[in-house]
Amino acid sequence: MKAITTTILACLLAATVQAQTPAGRGRGNQEPGPTITVRGHTFTQLSLFQRNVGGPDDMTTPFPPHKVIGNIYYVGTRSLAVFLLVTPQGHILINSTYERNVPGIQKAVEQLGFKFTDIKILLGSHAHGDHMEGDALVKSLTGAQVMAMAEDVPALEAMKPGGKPHPIDKVLHDGESVTLGGTTLVAHLTPGHSRGCTTWTLKAEEGGKSYDVVIIGSFGTNPGFKLVNNAETPRIADEFERAFKVARSLKCDVPLGSHPGMYNMTEKYSKLASGGPNPFIDPAGYLLEVDIDEAMFRAVLAEQRRAAPSGR
Ligand SMILES: [Zn+2]
Repeated sequence: MKAITTTILACLLAATVQAQTPAGRGRGNQEPGPTITVRGHTFTQLSLFQRNVGGPDDMTTPFPPHKVIGNIYYVGTRSLAVFLLVTPQGHILINSTYERNVPGIQKAVEQLGFKFTDIKILLGSHAHGDHMEGDALVKSLTGAQVMAMAEDVPALEAMKPGGKPHPIDKVLHDGESVTLGGTTLVAHLTPGHSRGCTTWTLKAEEGGKSYDVVIIGSFGTNPGFKLVNNAETPRIADEFERAFKVARSLKCDVPLGSHPGMYNMTEKYSKLASGGPNPFIDPAGYLLEVDIDEAMFRAVLAEQRRAAPSGR
């Protein structure tokens, strides 16, 4: 039951903020929350969330599909990231997003010259509808094996667009790897945002060099997240602590994430045409994003502990 509530909350939250309507549910989701400034970048809890989900149409409007680095391509929308990893033995897709976005993802894959039906494996960032609702449709169109982190399975099982059961062909555990056609991804459990939130790492080869790629699952403390006295996930603050510890242990040349705002995609994409160095190589950008998310987590936790001093 707890997973269902969390999933519904996340979806409602996204929809509410998108529509700019009053939340009307408990403590207002429209409240800005605490403010943080990291190396000149200032966010409130609400503005950081809005940076990720974008405006009313951003979650469903396709972004121009493009090559990121090596065999990694972007095939998502303006605010929901989808990555295609191309291998000689078929492809891996990361995130199906909302079910209604799946035809656009298919079109993006085809625009890049690849076949949607060559997708053999479907992975995800975390069990919220804006990233993984479309899994059943992608599986039915491609026959792909759907793999998910164990801790996210209950929330995924509760995600049933149109009543379709959520496919899960293989349950993954922290540190497990997924390999296809010479590409290996490692699944890192970075919980908090969801219980099985997964940060993926892989190597990309380009220009004779190898780069460490990190696809951030999410380190976000969304408006409405209860970090103190959370009956559903009593140790949620500890789970976030673990996520930041893991985040800081990962070597990263190329930061990517479940929302393109996490790695400044639009600005980097606009630099692609100039033919300079690959703009997606940005180790400093990764550390900045982790620092911003951790500063926000600590600010929200402190605020909630002040409001409920006896809570944990
Ligand atoms: Zn989420």
